[in-house]
Amino acid sequence: MQYRTFNKTGEQVSLLGTGTMRLPLSEDGKVDRLEAISMIRRSIDMGVNYVDTAYMYHDGESEKIVGEALKDGYREKVLLADKMPVWLAKDEDEMKALFEEQFKRLQVDVIDMYLVHNITVPVWKRAQKFKLMDFLKEQQEKGRIKHIGFSFHDELSLFKEVIDAYPWDFCQIQLNYMDKDFQAGEEGLRYAAERNIPVVIMEPLKGGKLTDALPRTVQSLWEQAEIKRTPAEWAFRWVADHPEVMVILSGMSSKEQLEENLRILSDAKPCSLTDKERAIIDQVSSEYNKLIQYSCTGCKYCMPCPKKIDIPTAINFYNEWFLYEGNPKIKDDYPTWLTEGRRPSDCVACKACEEHCPQHLPISEIMEKTAEIFE
Ligand code: SF4
Ligand code: SF4
Repeated sequence: MQYRTFNKTGEQVSLLGTGTMRLPLSEDGKVDRLEAISMIRRSIDMGVNYVDTAYMYHDGESEKIVGEALKDGYREKVLLADKMPVWLAKDEDEMKALFEEQFKRLQVDVIDMYLVHNITVPVWKRAQKFKLMDFLKEQQEKGRIKHIGFSFHDELSLFKEVIDAYPWDFCQIQLNYMDKDFQAGEEGLRYAAERNIPVVIMEPLKGGKLTDALPRTVQSLWEQAEIKRTPAEWAFRWVADHPEVMVILSGMSSKEQLEENLRILSDAKPCSLTDKERAIIDQVSSEYNKLIQYSCTGCKYCMPCPKKIDIPTAINFYNEWFLYEGNPKIKDDYPTWLTEGRRPSDCVACKACEEHCPQHLPISEIMEKTAEIFE
């Protein structure tokens, strides 16, 4: 495993960080706890020393599973990251209660890396209204959290404003070869690094969109490349090529993915991509840009919908229709996944979901378009 140095805190961190938003599932759709614990421990045994969770991942199961996984001597080997979902709190007392609940779920006394989760304009306003930064500073002085950071999903201008508003220890942004100029993007990465703020990367594979079921044209571009690599390897290497990147979080769902990621990120060096390699990635990126209609990462921040619509699945159907050129087979699965009474056509355009979408997708409009094609 490669390690990079958090310039502000001096810690040596593994380039691969274990994310826990997409843990392995059992047949009943619940998290496979034993497999998840075994994967987290395997990643640590192989040198990963950054483990990331959040209050809402898997409806709270993620924090509990991470807590279990870090027993038996694993806690001391890692930097543990967790995040404050301030938008879930109605007032300061509720915010503080969420914070306490996280320690109970994790069964730890100290959280090393504590982030304000998912900063967008309304989240940042609420954090200020509830004096979240003062609260976190107090908790840091008490030794309950070590480093204070934030994760971000809004425009570059807000990113710069947030970076300049507080002496952050680190931050976390979405970055992959499709999102170079989206949200904080590459410019945000450089902006933070120039101010000595270490950057953790999330969504390096765009929620699996860059690796799962490739469109024909993208597959053929990868096949034409002189060096044979999996789509995941191309995507990870593109992120790791940036020397400013400290940790790349990957929400791994299987041991195979973990082993592949360990292999890739033990080897991918900064500034190592050749011009030829970059050109192939650029070609793939423009091909995707032609095909993907809406950049949903499957994060589920938009859920639950009052009409019980499975929003990310619906958007996935819509995108696939264009990625696979209207293949009628895509329609076969639609009734199974989007069942009667909770279909996109049931959307009442209340837009409760849109407020929480980090990708700022016009969800109600997409529901309407999806219903037009599939219902
Ligand atoms: S706008 Fe539609 S999809 Fe979004 S929460 Fe309302 S009913 Fe659900
Ligand atoms: S619609 Fe937005 S919030 Fe919902 S899963 Fe997709 S990216 Fe996440």
